Amino acid sequence: MLTVVKQGWSTFKSIFTGMGITIRHFFGPSVTLQYPDEKMELPENSRAKLYVNIDDCIGCFLCARACPVNCIDIETAPATADVDLGKTSTGNPKRFWLTRFDIDMAKCMYCDLCVHPCPTNCIYMVPDYEYSEFDRSNLIYSFSNLVPEQVADVKEKAEAEAEEKKRQREEMQKAKAEAARKKKEMEAKKEEERSEKDGKEKGRAPSKPENDGGE
Ligand code: SF4
Ligand code: SF4
Repeated sequence: MLTVVKQGWSTFKSIFTGMGITIRHFFGPSVTLQYPDEKMELPENSRAKLYVNIDDCIGCFLCARACPVNCIDIETAPATADVDLGKTSTGNPKRFWLTRFDIDMAKCMYCDLCVHPCPTNCIYMVPDYEYSEFDRSNLIYSFSNLVPEQVADVKEKAEAEAEEKKRQREEMQKAKAEAARKKKEMEAKKEEERSEKDGKEKGRAPSKPENDGGE
């Protein structure tokens, strides 16, 4: 009998506790957002999506190397001698064209490891979370500001300059080798002349008088 009373009391108690919470929230302010008409404002440091300010990128690859899942794909082409790419807003000189800067947000695990090594603070998370897609390939974001024709052009110029530098380097090496060969030849010639001279001097030297045994 006592057990039945205890169980009955426990049941009523839990019903009144639950109803108390329900009634309190019923008359309190609403906490449910009517998404998408209403949106929650995320904190500034929330990790929702990566963004790259490409104008400040120097193509150092530090972010790509830090990424544990290889979802940052960067390609660069060195700026040729006739082009000045200027500096970033942090004062770092820019020496490379960013011919590709893709981030695959479908692979990203929001670890933020790519953000910290960036010397110009140009890669960072933004609180933009509404970017779901039906096709995963649409989650690859391209940040390069070059159109394909420009990419082909800068690559071609960079290759031509690299070829020219290589040719100049080879010519310099050849010239050095030739100069070394000539120096060696001259030294050998001098050595030969010196030995000839020494031989002649030895030939002219007076021979030792013979002992006639007369004393
Ligand atoms: S947040 Fe992490 S996983 Fe995503 S790109 Fe950066 S390093 Fe890679
Ligand atoms: S670390 Fe920063 S500057 Fe270097 S490649 Fe990545 S985004 Fe560009």
